[in-house]
Amino acid sequence: MQYCDVTTALETLRGLEGKLAAYNHAMGVLSLDATSAAPKGSGEGRGRTMAILSEVVYGIIADPENEPLLSFLEKQELDPQAKREVELWRKSFNQISRIPAKEYIDYTVLINDAQDVWLQAKQDNHFALFAPYLEKIVEYNRKFAGYYHPEMKPYDALLNEYEEGLNTEMLDGFFAKLREELVPLISKIKAAKAPEDSFLHKYYPLDKQREFSDYLMEVLGLDRNHCGIAETEHPYTTNFNCYDVRITTHYQEHDLASSMYSVIHEGGHAIYELGCDPKYNYTVLSGGVSMGIHESQSRFFENIIGRSEPFIRHIFPKVQELFPEQLQGVDAHMFWKAVNKAGPSLVRTEADELTYCMHIMVRYELEKRLIDGSLAVNDLPQAWNEMYQKYLGIEVPDDRNGCLQDSHWSGGSIGYFPSYALGSAYGPQMLAFMEKDLGDIWQDVERGDLSRIKGWLGEHFHRHAGFYKPGVLFEMTCGKFDPTYYTDYLKKKYADLYNL
Ligand code: ZN
Repeated sequence: MQYCDVTTALETLRGLEGKLAAYNHAMGVLSLDATSAAPKGSGEGRGRTMAILSEVVYGIIADPENEPLLSFLEKQELDPQAKREVELWRKSFNQISRIPAKEYIDYTVLINDAQDVWLQAKQDNHFALFAPYLEKIVEYNRKFAGYYHPEMKPYDALLNEYEEGLNTEMLDGFFAKLREELVPLISKIKAAKAPEDSFLHKYYPLDKQREFSDYLMEVLGLDRNHCGIAETEHPYTTNFNCYDVRITTHYQEHDLASSMYSVIHEGGHAIYELGCDPKYNYTVLSGGVSMGIHESQSRFFENIIGRSEPFIRHIFPKVQELFPEQLQGVDAHMFWKAVNKAGPSLVRTEADELTYCMHIMVRYELEKRLIDGSLAVNDLPQAWNEMYQKYLGIEVPDDRNGCLQDSHWSGGSIGYFPSYALGSAYGPQMLAFMEKDLGDIWQDVERGDLSRIKGWLGEHFHRHAGFYKPGVLFEMTCGKFDPTYYTDYLKKKYADLYNL
C-alpha cells in the first residue's frame, strides 16, 4: 500500500495499536485467570486460545504492510508522541519480523505449559520435572537474542529488552560496587544482636490478612474502582490500561510481613501504572517505560516508605486492631525493627532490603552462564546452591527454596532480574531529589498522607509512561545514575537500626 498523507498513515498506525492493545488485554486477562482463579485442569483449552491469540498478535506486528507504513511515517514531520510511537513500532517490527512465526507461536505455547510444570515441580520439590522446559526456554531466548540484536552479546540483547541500554559491562561494575560496600555491612549486622521478630510468625488468619491488604491499599491511595487484588502463588502486577490495574499477593498464615510487603510492593507498581497519562492508553507508549523504572517505584513504596519508622507509626494502630492477640506487648518501634530485620535468607521475595541485591547477583551470574552456554540446566541447582553459600553464607536445603523459587524463568523472562537491583538503587537517588524539592516528607508519611510524594513521582515519572527512554527519564530529574546514593542510604538506615 502507498501512503500519501500523514493523517491517513497515522490513523492506520493507531488502528493497529488499538488492535494490539485489545489482544494484549485479552491475553493478560487469561494469564491473570490462569494464575489466580482457573481450576488446575484448565490449561489445555487456554493453551489453544493463547496460541491463536498470539498468532494474531504476531501477524499484527510482523505484517509486511507495516514496512511501507513505517518508512513513510519516518520521513514525515511528526509531533513528539507520534514520533516515539513510530520509533517503538519500528523496534518491535524489526525484532519480531525476524522471529519465524512458527517459533514465536511454539514459544508462547511452551511458556504456557512451562508455568504449570514449574508450579508442580516447585510444589513437589522436583527440579528434573521442570529442567527440560527450562532447557528449551534458554535455547529459545538465546536464539531470540540473536534476532533482537545480532550485534550484541546474547545476554546483553536480553537485558536490553527490559532496560534499554543496559549491558553486562555496566552491571559487572554496579554489582562490584555493591559487593565492596555492602558485604562488610552485612557481616557487621550478622555479628550484631538481631531484633525480636517472633511475633510476626504467630498465627495470622487469612481473612484478617485480607482485611489488612484492603487497609494497605487504602493507605497507598489505590482507587479500588481501578485497581483489583487477587491471590496467586507469586505476587505480581498486571495492567491493561491506566484505568484497569490488578495486583496479586500470596498469604502465609505464619508470616504477617510476607503479604504485607507484597501488597505495598505491587501497590507501588500499580501507583505507577494508574498515574500514566490517559492519552497514552491503547498506544505502544501505554504503561511504565521499563522494568528498572518500574522496580524503582515498587521498591520505593515497599522499602523507603513502607519500611520507614514514620510509616509504621501511622499504620500500627490499625495493625494492632486487626491482630490484638498476636501483637500483645508489641509497640510501633519494635514492629519497625522487626520488619527491617536483616540477614542471609533463602527466598528472594522475603529477603530484607540489605541482602536483597545479593539474591539478584546470584541470578544475574547464573543467567549469564546459562545463556553463554557455560552452565548446563542440569547443573543449575548445584551452581545455585554454591553461590548462596559463597555470597550469603547459607545452605540451601532443597530446590523449592532454591532455584525453583521464582516464576521468572518459567515465564520466559531471562535478563529481567538485574532490573530489580537497578530499581532498588534508583530509589534513594529519587528520594534525595524529592527531598530537595519538597523538604521534609516524613511528617506526611507519619500522617498517612502520601499525596505530595505520589504527586512528585507522578509529575516527574509516572505521567510520562513510555514517552521517554528510561535512562533519559531518570536523568531529566535525578542527573546521572550514581549507586552511591543507594549504598549511603543503606549504610545510614542499618546503622540506625542496629546501633552500629
Ligand atoms: Zn516488582
